[in-house]
Amino acid sequence: MDAERCSWCGAAVEADDGFRAYEPAGERRAVFCRLEHLVPWGIKGAFWEAGALDDPHLTESRSFACSQCGADLDPEAHVVLVRHRGEHRIADHFCGVDHLVEWAKAGGRWQ
Ligand SMILES: [Zn+2]
Ligand SMILES: [Zn+2]
Repeated sequence: MDAERCSWCGAAVEADDGFRAYEPAGERRAVFCRLEHLVPWGIKGAFWEAGALDDPHLTESRSFACSQCGADLDPEAHVVLVRHRGEHRIADHFCGVDHLVEWAKAGGRWQ
């Protein structure tokens, strides 16, 4: 699989590395080489590219809670962030880009 480009800095992001953000309802996605690059991207207005989830199973579950505020989320209308780490895909779900950015600012899961 070809490397993608970070939506913020343009660095190459290998398929088994980096972060992918998705907005399933709009079939939009963005790619990040590192979590920190998501913050300026979100603040500057979150420019998405067209594209669906690589792994549709990630939104198969019927109930999600926002990783930032704990609110229940609509399976069709929320934002998903997937960390690619080798073969692992670690997904977090958010109300929207604003909560995704707050979460990333705080260091994500690894704060
Ligand atoms: Zn980057
Ligand atoms: Zn939230």
